[in-house]
Amino acid sequence: MSYGVGLDYLTVEKVAELLVVKSEVIEGYLYAGELPGIKTGEEWRIEVEDLKEFITGLMADQEKEKEFKQHQPQEVAIDWTLDECGNCGELGIINKESHPFCSSDCQEVADLGFQAL
Ligand SMILES: [Zn+2]
Repeated sequence: MSYGVGLDYLTVEKVAELLVVKSEVIEGYLYAGELPGIKTGEEWRIEVEDLKEFITGLMADQEKEKEFKQHQPQEVAIDWTLDECGNCGELGIINKESHPFCSSDCQEVADLGFQAL
């Protein structure tokens, strides 16, 4: 599997899995044009770069909402993005700064400094 270089496409199912939502939610974004996608027959394909931009947009919306609701400084800078896990290389929603891993398992492996069996 290769991500990040050239054109990489994800299925609706994969995007739903990454964002931990139902496929219908992603299809809703696709049909609404909020998330750019290519429809081939019944199947959607979403470009990795488009998904990254979409996630960045969602984050920005959330930030604005928070600022509106509470005029307090953020405790933690939100810098989550779609990137490769620092341990296994799987694509996931991670934070390169504070938590560059796709799962708690990968975090643990990195913390302990050895490969889990
Ligand atoms: Zn991982």
